[in-house]
Amino acid sequence: MLNKKVDFRIILTFIVTILAFLLLIARLYPKSNHIQINNLEMHSGPSIDYPVSTKLKSNSKFKIITKKNNWSKINSNGKTGWVPTWLLNKKLDNYSKLSEATIVLDPGHGGTDAGALSIKGKYEKAYTMQLVNQVYKELKNSGANVILTRNNDQYVSLNERPQLAEKNHADLFLSFHFDSSDLNNSATGFTTYYYHNESSLALANTINQSLSNLPLTNRGVEFGDYLVIRDTTVPSVLLESGYINNSKDFKYIRNPNYQKQIAKDIKAGLNNYFNKK
Ligand SMILES: [Zn+2]
Repeated sequence: MLNKKVDFRIILTFIVTILAFLLLIARLYPKSNHIQINNLEMHSGPSIDYPVSTKLKSNSKFKIITKKNNWSKINSNGKTGWVPTWLLNKKLDNYSKLSEATIVLDPGHGGTDAGALSIKGKYEKAYTMQLVNQVYKELKNSGANVILTRNNDQYVSLNERPQLAEKNHADLFLSFHFDSSDLNNSATGFTTYYYHNESSLALANTINQSLSNLPLTNRGVEFGDYLVIRDTTVPSVLLESGYINNSKDFKYIRNPNYQKQIAKDIKAGLNNYFNKK
């Protein structure tokens, strides 16, 4: 009996030693990977704002040197630079500047905070979620790193929303709401709000210009003192995409085709925004 016990211990020690050795080998010789995107841009620093130093051909080998925020410093064919971590090992045919962006989408309200009441007795929070789901799909397809402040009917405080953008080193933050007027059917149209001139006005203008295919009146770009776009250093815009207590606007607000059109227009606007940068 004693001998069997000793044998077992020796075997166990042997197995553990082999495993530790294999782990050490794996660390010393990291697996080399291949870029799957053609002309993937390498930047001189860990964000979209740094200049492009070179473009990598599809199938180029690379090794990760270090990581910062959402970006990885890599070496490929003797060249060193930064690329978005989520684009490494990713296949993407429609690669663009937008693919390199980290974007936080904020469906207004949620949970016990229902938002404004619609003309049909339904609440704003449901439609901001529907709209954001469409925008999410559209931006995800373009390869961007998209993060939501909520993905179901849950309460998220106002402070937490811009903080999520800061924490994730987002390139921009978009908050989605629907307007409401004191009297039903007394106002119509959509408005694009910004707070910070320097960081957000250009973003607001570009998005507003891209919302050119919507059936409602464009009320233009306005300054808006909203916490979610004010208490932040990330370029931020708040969109009021129609008056929820106007029967004509509400017909569109609840219509998936209207929501999809906004999503497409926003994608076009963000492409323009990042190409101009
Ligand atoms: Zn709202």
